[in-house]
Amino acid sequence: MKRTTYVFDIGGLVRSDQGTKYKFKFDEENILKFEDNVKQKSGINADITLMRVREGIHVHVENMQFSLEFKCTRCATGFIQKIVVRSAERVFFFEKEKEDSDMFDLFYVNKKALTIDIADFLRQEIILHFPTIPVCSKSCKGLCPTCGANLNEEKCSCAKRSSEEKPLAALKNLYKPK
Ligand SMILES: [Zn+2]
Ligand SMILES: [Zn+2]
Repeated sequence: MKRTTYVFDIGGLVRSDQGTKYKFKFDEENILKFEDNVKQKSGINADITLMRVREGIHVHVENMQFSLEFKCTRCATGFIQKIVVRSAERVFFFEKEKEDSDMFDLFYVNKKALTIDIADFLRQEIILHFPTIPVCSKSCKGLCPTCGANLNEEKCSCAKRSSEEKPLAALKNLYKPK
């Protein structure tokens, strides 16, 4: 399958019978763009099957793997997480569909060039696999709310003070009238 980064030349497939498939290993170093606090740190590997269907080209991506760098929501440090997308599929249509799907953006074949560009499809699938709340580790202590020190790396004096206050607060709660 001839391609340039995420753009596949599907001329041969368009001229083939329905059900004709091309299966190949995809390995792309060119990185995709995400929101500012997420960076792609590796190329993308996947098994891709393109199949000619009546309405267009069916794209099936399996075992897509890559690494992303997220910013920890507790300590603001960048950390790298490997993400695997087991399976994702979408049809790239020849013609505009009358009813636009609410769930997803629809994708179309570039009929002039006879190509499909799967970059947006992959980007959307990858975003679905982002961690809900990115944290560098479950035990991340975060930043001190008072002085901003990274508590994974250093102990600040404010942390000590606030932990001294805690037993008192607990005691207060104990004697709260009900
Ligand atoms: Zn962290
Ligand atoms: Zn502090």
